Amino acid sequence: MSEVADFRSDTVTRPTAEMREAIASAEVGDDVLGHDPTTLALEEEGARILGKEAALYMPSGSMCNLVAMLTHTRPGQELVLEEWAHMCRFEAGSAGAIAHLIVRTVPSDGGVLDTDRVAGWLSAGSEHTPPTGLVAVENTHNFHGGVVQPMEALRSLRRVCDDADVPLHMDGARVWNAAAATGTDVATIVGFADTVSVCLSKGLCAPVGSLLAGSRDFIQTARFHRKRVGGGMRQSGILAAAGLVSLRSMRERLTEDHARAARIASVLAETPGFAVPSGAPDTNIVFVELERALAADVVAFAADHDVLLYATGERQIRLVTHHDVDDDAVDRLLDVLARAV
Ligand SMILES: *Cc1c(COP(=O)(O)O)cnc(C)c1O
Repeated sequence: MSEVADFRSDTVTRPTAEMREAIASAEVGDDVLGHDPTTLALEEEGARILGKEAALYMPSGSMCNLVAMLTHTRPGQELVLEEWAHMCRFEAGSAGAIAHLIVRTVPSDGGVLDTDRVAGWLSAGSEHTPPTGLVAVENTHNFHGGVVQPMEALRSLRRVCDDADVPLHMDGARVWNAAAATGTDVATIVGFADTVSVCLSKGLCAPVGSLLAGSRDFIQTARFHRKRVGGGMRQSGILAAAGLVSLRSMRERLTEDHARAARIASVLAETPGFAVPSGAPDTNIVFVELERALAADVVAFAADHDVLLYATGERQIRLVTHHDVDDDAVDRLLDVLARAV
């Protein structure tokens, strides 16, 4: 079998046959003028599923997070988030470079923010100190291994934000995985946050696209900021059509990805040369420590055998399961890894 098994990320998923059909027959108009029926349908359905009043379609999750920052805050305010948050580490510095925010990172226990630590930084500002403009929480937390934020943590985060009158944004790129893993309605999870960004292009397989959801007033202002950063699209219904398939058909199957990630973690835990966090991963991401080899060498060896991996450290790799890696692909991965070390 020569097809490449790609475990680098769930972003590599390709649109399904159903999506390609939906794309081919999508009704379109000019969305910047507010006339693209398919984009409007996606925004309406996304908002309903997320339990928010309105949603806005954008090309990427990074843009949704940026537009959320621009809409919630003013330049010079502080943004409080976890130290490995995607919004501070992997969005090219947009919080500082474009939104002009001071980024206050808080260490965490495995990706779950400690409410007391966050509360210690929330401030209305003074003659000397910047006011907090926004708190952001990542769910699931990518670089802590797809960790699901416990409801209790979200509830207490909400409480301290309310006490300080600071808005709470959820970077919910993979909040679909959190919902599937816990069997919780996604609207309940994102209900703790004022606004949420979600990706349609990761586990849900759309070729492009994310949604930012929140109150009607918030989304109205967000439309202005999306335009300002160049995110107004025209016949975007071509892409939104695939996003509708994501919302309708692709959420329930995420538990299959979680089961495969659990299998990978349990086999590697028993394989000499590998260390994985104890217990099954919460969702579809497995970080693996290499005890006997360098990540670059393992990645190169695997690539020679048509298995693609992502090195996240000198002796660490990240494995992500998704729609386009089946049980055979997992077998090949485990076989190649065992031989690599
Ligand atoms: C993927 C991801 C995003 C958005 O990334 P884009 O590539 O800009 O769509 C945001 N947050 C997290 C946690 C992610 O994993």
